[in-house]
Amino acid sequence: MQRSRILKVKDKTFAVTLSERTIKSQIRRVAEQINRDYEGKQPVFLAVLNGSFIFAADLLREINVPCEISFIKLASYEGTTTTGNIREIIGLNIDITGRPVIIVEDIVDTGLTMAHMLETLKPHNPESIEICTLLLKPSKLQVKLDIRYCCKQIPDDFVVGYGLDYDGFGRNTKDIYTLIQN
Ligand code: 5GP
Repeated sequence: MQRSRILKVKDKTFAVTLSERTIKSQIRRVAEQINRDYEGKQPVFLAVLNGSFIFAADLLREINVPCEISFIKLASYEGTTTTGNIREIIGLNIDITGRPVIIVEDIVDTGLTMAHMLETLKPHNPESIEICTLLLKPSKLQVKLDIRYCCKQIPDDFVVGYGLDYDGFGRNTKDIYTLIQN
């Protein structure tokens, strides 16, 4: 049965822009790259919650080198030190010291989240850290980021579906939709 091309999430209307088939084929392409690059290694995938849970599940099933995965969150709170904000990774239950790490993210927009994530992970002394993102909005990037693995570059529009939400809803679709009407 054909799925609807229009999706209503709460008060907003979205139209399908990336089909399940396109998403899956781009994930296979990136997974092949990772499989080649990490041959003979045992990478640790760190999937950033909440948005990357579906992407991580599909990506991992295409990975054929021995690997581990942990689901993490970056918490930020006001500290009492002069350095201001304190950032902490929640859910990191694998020792990444000396290990090759691949961060799995749903979407990189300004890049600030990934920049903070890299800064917070570096003191754990991993062997290497790479970023693997499902989506990237190149025109929005505000920081210099080396993104080794990217499934799809998209324009500067708000998207939902396939794990990405609008106000908590809309994650449970197979395709990705773009906002067409506020
Ligand atoms: P950044 O720090 O790169 O600006 O933002 C990254 C985070 O913002 C993503 O992990 C995601 O949670 C959210 N985000 C950015 N753009 C979009 C979008 O188009 N749709 C959704 N659902 N979330 C977005």
